[in-house]
Amino acid sequence: MKKKPIEASCISCGKHNLTKNEVGINKKLMGENIETYYCLDCLADYLEVSVDDINAKIEEFKEEGCALFE
Ligand SMILES: [Zn+2]
Repeated sequence: MKKKPIEASCISCGKHNLTKNEVGINKKLMGENIETYYCLDCLADYLEVSVDDINAKIEEFKEEGCALFE
């Protein structure tokens, strides 16, 4: 089965080509079925946390071996 390329862009600032990790953390924090994504900056803003907090979360999920992250 071919993998679909991820072509997500930030709904807030329009940043293109969000990374797999950016898309993954959106799904983790906002729900698996979301169709709109935020870049890390806008996600942090939206959740009222720092980008460092988001990156720490990504690392946590990666350590758990979550397939949404690389
Ligand atoms: Zn953005």
